[in-house]
Amino acid sequence: GGAAEPPPKLVLDLERLATLPSEKAGPLQRYTATIQSQRGDYNGKVLSIRQDDLRTLAVIYDQSPSVLTEQLISWGVLVADARRAVQAEES
Ligand code: C2E
Ligand code: C2E
Ligand code: C2E
Repeated sequence: GGAAEPPPKLVLDLERLATLPSEKAGPLQRYTATIQSQRGDYNGKVLSIRQDDLRTLAVIYDQSPSVLTEQLISWGVLVADARRAVQAEES
């Protein structure tokens, strides 16, 4: 114990994301594909994204960032620890 841990990064599981039906995951699949293309980062199994991008995705999905985070955790795209990244933002 001791020093406070920094908030965790938002790390998306791209292999899991690719298995999800596009009816629900389509917007997120297109968004992450755009980030990969902008970075030239095509071969990763995971993708670290910006806090700002989660906010943008929440607008796209018409949900709050914390509700979207719960959905991404339930899809298996984010680990449960990602909750702390969003709480740190909203508190
Ligand atoms: P930019 O935002 O002007 O960033 C230029 C470069 O600064 C990036 O080149 C990257 O090397 C570095 N950089 C900026 N912010 C961060 C950061 O939070 N962490 C790290 N590790 N590096 C950072 P890169 O990666 O080739 O990206 C080129 C451009 O693509 C970026 O220009 C930005 O416009 C866009 N982009 C890349 N990744 C993302 C992303 O996750 N979200 C958004 N919204 N745009 C992104
Ligand atoms: P980390 O951030 O905990 O990432 C661990 C590993 O997850 C990375 O190992 C990489 O295999 C994968 N990973 C995480 N985010 C991404 C992503 O957006 N794209 C891809 N393709 N893979 C990702 P790696 O590359 O050996 O990096 C080890 C550690 O080095 C990272 O741990 C991080 O602490 C640091 N690091 C690597 N690249 C950057 C960077 O661009 N910016 C910063 N700030 N740290 C970096
Ligand atoms: P990271 O590289 O470890 O950066 C952690 C935080 O430091 C970022 O959180 C951001 O607040 C700040 N930061 C780092 N580099 C820059 C920079 O060049 N410009 C600015 N304005 N801030 C910077 P954030 O934005 O939530 O990003 C989380 C993670 O997403 C980053 O961790 C990195 O792994 C990835 N990422 C974000 N944007 C980019 C990007 O443009 N290119 C690449 N390759 N990775 C990015």
